[in-house]
Amino acid sequence: MTTNKQRLIVQKYGGTSVGSPERIREVAKRVARYRNRGDSIVVVLSAMSGETNKLVALINELNPHGSSREKDVVLSTGEQVTIGLLSLALEALDCPAKSYTGTQARLMTDSAFCKARISKIDGSKIQADINAGKVVVVAGFQGVDSEGNITTLGRGGSDTTAVALAVALGADECQIYTDVDGVYTTDPRMVPEAKHIPKLALEEMLEMASQGSKVLQIRAVEFAHKYNMPIRVLSSFDDGDDGKSTLVTREEDIMEEVLVRGVAFNKDEAQLTITGVPDQPGVAFKILGDISSANIEIDMIVQNIATAHNGTDGTTDFTFTVHRNDYDQAMKILNNTGEKLGAKNVSGDDKIAKVSIIGGGMRSHAGVATDMFKALADENINIHMISTSEIKVSVVVDEKYLELAVRSLHEAFDLDKA
Ligand code: ADP
Ligand code: ASP
Ligand code: MG
Repeated sequence: MTTNKQRLIVQKYGGTSVGSPERIREVAKRVARYRNRGDSIVVVLSAMSGETNKLVALINELNPHGSSREKDVVLSTGEQVTIGLLSLALEALDCPAKSYTGTQARLMTDSAFCKARISKIDGSKIQADINAGKVVVVAGFQGVDSEGNITTLGRGGSDTTAVALAVALGADECQIYTDVDGVYTTDPRMVPEAKHIPKLALEEMLEMASQGSKVLQIRAVEFAHKYNMPIRVLSSFDDGDDGKSTLVTREEDIMEEVLVRGVAFNKDEAQLTITGVPDQPGVAFKILGDISSANIEIDMIVQNIATAHNGTDGTTDFTFTVHRNDYDQAMKILNNTGEKLGAKNVSGDDKIAKVSIIGGGMRSHAGVATDMFKALADENINIHMISTSEIKVSVVVDEKYLELAVRSLHEAFDLDKA
């Protein structure tokens, strides 16, 4: 495809796409091909596959409870290797390239180490390199805070670097190259019958990502949604540039509205319950505020309504879910809060999982939730918690039923049919 107008494209390559010298050479060839036909290219890279996990393991071996600032110093190193290697590979193809770490790229974040949020990008240096005809190669997943500390953006954060850079530079498209050729009706690794989705609304992708489809990091989709940046998901393993892909774009640009677009799941969750707390104004704020102050994100929340069991003594119960990594810390905090409030009991379960169905068509159709509960009941799967939004229904189930739940929902909503 050639266009008259010079396009600016941000291409992000994930860990498996740069997992070996051969793969990096393939990426270099693709980047050079795009550049040579006149596009301006900014590349964002992840660390080589498995590298960040290795760094996490090293940290855990030495001091898992150590300071998050130092963890980020370690975690950010994987991406520095790949940006240098790709730039060298591009040079070898006579394609001028220049690498930037997050700090060098002036990708500013807050100071929430290990899960920092991007606040500002000064793209002027990068823009000057683009204008000079260079391919700019930026380390994903990392930034710098106002004190000059290295920060990282949370696992999968290179997607967010790519979209944020695309927005800051006013790119025409943000391409996310990975090991699948697009977004599927559910994770094709779990359900081989999953179907490819050629076009998807940003709103739907937002729900899919937030419910656990890790093909795109949630914050990347939030950015794209806020600034209306189209994302294209493609495979770096396809030869040529005419393979399948998924375009994630504004809802107006999607022709057909589908009742259920896909099934997402998340096994990284844990559930905490506090019972017998005073049923008074401010109690939810006290319980959940203590957790949020520790920078722990709360996902689902259920407060029991007054029943014969708990209503008559003026108390109530709360259950909520957090990321499994935050379970121990959240439990400690909740035990403290429980003591202060004179709660009856504090308990938890980290062997749970969340399964969600997502689709824009739910807005105008009732009964989808009922069909979902029936499909799960038919498989004898017990539901612990339910939460709904305009375009999604999520349930918490025992982790051991996760795969069965995903498969039966995928089938019940005919997602395995073309
Ligand atoms: P990268 O290292 O390129 O960032 P990820 O592993 O983060 O790649 O994301 C790609 C993976 O996302 C796929 O290999 C697939 O297993 C998983 N995935 C989960 N849900 C979906 C979905 N609905 N469609 C496509 N891939 C999905
Ligand atoms: N290397 C980081 C990770 O493994 C960031 C990324 O790949 O997006 O989470
Ligand atoms: Mg990823």
